[in-house]
Amino acid sequence: MPIHSLFPTRVYSASLPHARATALNTRLLRECLQLREDDVAGQRWSKRSYPGGFTSYASASRMHQVSPTFAALEKLIDGHVARFVRELEFDLGAGRLAMSDCWVNIMPRGVTHSLHLHPLSVISGTYYVRVPKGAPGLKFEDPRLERFMAAPPRTADAEDRNRAWKVLPASAGALLLFESWLRHEVAPNAGNSERVSISFNYHWS
Ligand code: FE
Repeated sequence: MPIHSLFPTRVYSASLPHARATALNTRLLRECLQLREDDVAGQRWSKRSYPGGFTSYASASRMHQVSPTFAALEKLIDGHVARFVRELEFDLGAGRLAMSDCWVNIMPRGVTHSLHLHPLSVISGTYYVRVPKGAPGLKFEDPRLERFMAAPPRTADAEDRNRAWKVLPASAGALLLFESWLRHEVAPNAGNSERVSISFNYHWS
């Protein structure tokens, strides 16, 4: 059909090789849980802004610079970001994209992470360390939603490219990358144990 797909929203997903992910995630999980014990400022911030869960977003947000384990993860993610950037055909000139922030999210059962975007960065994403059965994926929202006005809803079985939102499932060892302006959220964790993820931003400089 003579239809052009203009201005598509691209989301990159990849999985680390199973053995690699298992080994890395054992170490990452230990450090994430330890951080929750040690990071008093993060505990305080989470109490106010991340009810029932823990995030080091406002306290320990450069984990790739303080932990060799997180630095190893950064190295892996760098390769995927480079691939995504090629696909997006960004012209970075003399600059480059580098990880600027990297933080931990722990969501026990029932905890949610409401709709948000990641200001002041170019590429953002999440790496999954532990995803219990029943835990939610990441829900993305069509960035043009407020312009839809009189647009009709879509059929229940509409193709992904025509939907106003889409949930991409989470699994341990998987990685999602998206442009930082893309709004996303995590529904309440319906799993019986904690969902642990690491989020990050890349800046252009
Ligand atoms: Fe996010």
